[in-house]
Amino acid sequence: MRILIAEDSNVSRHVLESIVSKWDYQVITTTDGNQAWEALQRADAPRMAILDWMMPGLTGPEVCKLVREKGVEPYTYILLLTSRTQKEDVIEGMTAGADDYLAKPFDQQELNVRLRAGRRIIDLQDELLRAQAALRYQATHDALTGVTNRGRISEVLESYVSEAGHLGVIMLDLDKFKAVNDTFGHAAGDAVLVTVAQRLAGALSEKDVLGRYGGEEFLVVSRRTPEELAEFAETLRERIAGAPIAAGDVRLSVTASFGVANRNGSGVSHGNTLMKAADDALYQAKREGRDRVVVAASPER
Ligand code: GH3
Ligand code: MG
Ligand code: MG
Ligand code: MG
Repeated sequence: MRILIAEDSNVSRHVLESIVSKWDYQVITTTDGNQAWEALQRADAPRMAILDWMMPGLTGPEVCKLVREKGVEPYTYILLLTSRTQKEDVIEGMTAGADDYLAKPFDQQELNVRLRAGRRIIDLQDELLRAQAALRYQATHDALTGVTNRGRISEVLESYVSEAGHLGVIMLDLDKFKAVNDTFGHAAGDAVLVTVAQRLAGALSEKDVLGRYGGEEFLVVSRRTPEELAEFAETLRERIAGAPIAAGDVRLSVTASFGVANRNGSGVSHGNTLMKAADDALYQAKREGRDRVVVAASPER
């Protein structure tokens, strides 16, 4: 754990530094409040700080205030060091945003346990942030295939619709997939879905986002030109149909049908309009015999 010590008195700073370094902290020192505020604003700022109250430049409480105004993620744990122990001073320091304070001259063991309490808070916040990130991931990704889920891919489409430039969608649906489940079981069906998602994901560029739209339906939202998108859909079709997919002890030939729709600069203002056009094209591909790409005519606004 890295910790900032801001203290203008050379003697006190050296004493503090040598004590705190013994406890498994990597110490960064500054000699005034402005330097301390600078160090705490950096991207790799230490998560804990011991700030002297009276320093040249900003005072300890002033630095606290600035840190708290900056925001809480990731949290900086601040301990104020003060020779001022009047109740009003303590209230002022804590109001400014300090987590704790210690009166000078301080007791080493007391400083040690207070820093440990601070470390617990930092660790707890890290754990919370990790849990939050995991939840965010779960809420936006499909649990089976790991690709973007329907809710998220729909959001991506709506946000792209509001931007200028090329925009199109590819909707694809595995052919006769019910038969895979019926013949080889649901687990084999799941394995096929995972491999299909991998094959699709492996072909994406930074212009494409892939999502699982429904059971055996996937959606690609893309910023490619109409010509590129039609070609890309053909590439995806070949990637799926080109080699059998291993599912348990069997190898299955899997194909998919594709519907492609582009904005074509025609000013489509809703993702739903594009989706409907792609869906119609997909069903035309099914009717015409499956394992093929159908590109929709430029949709009406
Ligand atoms: P079509 O070529 O007309 O699309 O025929 P299909 O059999 O693919 O279409 P249908 O809609 O009749 O069947 C889709 C099947 O996809 C039915 C369902 O059991 C299966 N399915 C949907 N989601 C999952 C899943 O998560 N895992 C597995 N194993 N199967 C799924
Ligand atoms: Mg001082
Ligand atoms: Mg389907
Ligand atoms: Mg199907």
